[in-house]
Amino acid sequence: MALHVHHDIASLSPYVPGKPIEELQRELGLSRVVKLASNENPLGPSPKALAALAGAETTLHRYPDGGAYRLRQAIADRWKVAMDQVILGNGSDEILGLLARAFLAPGDEAVMADCTFVIYKMEVTAAHGKPVVVPLKEWTHDLEAMAAAVTPRTRLLFVCNPNNPTGTMVSAEAVRRLMASVPEDVIVVFDEAYFEYVRDPHFPDALDYVKRGRNAIVLRTFSKIYGLAGLRIGYGMTTPEINGYLNRVRPPFNANTLAQRAALAALGDDEHVARSRAVNAAGMEHIENGLRALAFDPVPSEANFLYFDVRRDGRQVFDALLREGIIVRHIEGPMLRVTVGQPEENSAFLHALKKVVA
Ligand SMILES: *Cc1c(COP(=O)(O)O)cnc(C)c1O
Repeated sequence: MALHVHHDIASLSPYVPGKPIEELQRELGLSRVVKLASNENPLGPSPKALAALAGAETTLHRYPDGGAYRLRQAIADRWKVAMDQVILGNGSDEILGLLARAFLAPGDEAVMADCTFVIYKMEVTAAHGKPVVVPLKEWTHDLEAMAAAVTPRTRLLFVCNPNNPTGTMVSAEAVRRLMASVPEDVIVVFDEAYFEYVRDPHFPDALDYVKRGRNAIVLRTFSKIYGLAGLRIGYGMTTPEINGYLNRVRPPFNANTLAQRAALAALGDDEHVARSRAVNAAGMEHIENGLRALAFDPVPSEANFLYFDVRRDGRQVFDALLREGIIVRHIEGPMLRVTVGQPEENSAFLHALKKVVA
């Protein structure tokens, strides 16, 4: 059948998500599967978020509040920005797509790292923009090289901080120098999906650039530490002007009723966040020590996952771990990424890895 498709779209590959638990159970007939593949919170959602869902079912025949008044107001209060600076997305993934759609004309450039969140390249290409890819330096964004890659065609520059999949961060000082050298008309996208896990005191206050009126956006999500990945909700904080353009291309009901309710409650549950941070810190140390005991050398991480070199075909190690009922992520070549889980999940992972690489 005749079919017309733009070569930019034909050039894309569908996003490969972490393997779902049920799929592996079906394929291998395993009863116990440990999924450490998608940087989800192993503790699950905040109990307050779950409680907030009760009773919502009676309103499901109504459209959501398209302006998400209460949630945007709570986010604005929390981060000391105006409500017209807050945008919600069906996951912060969607906001990445809105940025590409709103600000890229065909052939416009977007600067990004070579080993970072794959959605940037996908959304930029789908919007007929041109990804300009800058190699990491010591597994970290090379902001100097990224600034040098800016041309008059550059519209967006993505800083994934901490970076997925490497777990590294760029410092306040590195960002200060970036912002001093990048032309003011370039929108700097700070993707802070793992913000709440960061422990390093040199982490930048990227939101301050937004507050000072720079063309920048800070993206956060309820999918990671808040444990609401299944509901699909994330947010951005930017200038009212940029937000105005994002809203022109935003689907009107992109943040659903249940997600808005749960996120509002989760945002107020500092205790769940603190507990999740503590479980992550302890689990991170557990996995780091276990990997070192197997003579691996994980990249120091500010997030809830570890990136490491298995010094052999990573795909084979990934497949062998699957057969042990452990789902991690194969990134490329010898590199794997493992999410920090609950103590018994971390032990199961280390035990299986030891068996697989023996
Ligand atoms: C998980 C993740 C996101 C957001 O995911 P959503 O579920 O769409 O909110 C964004 N950026 C990075 C780097 C991530 O790892």
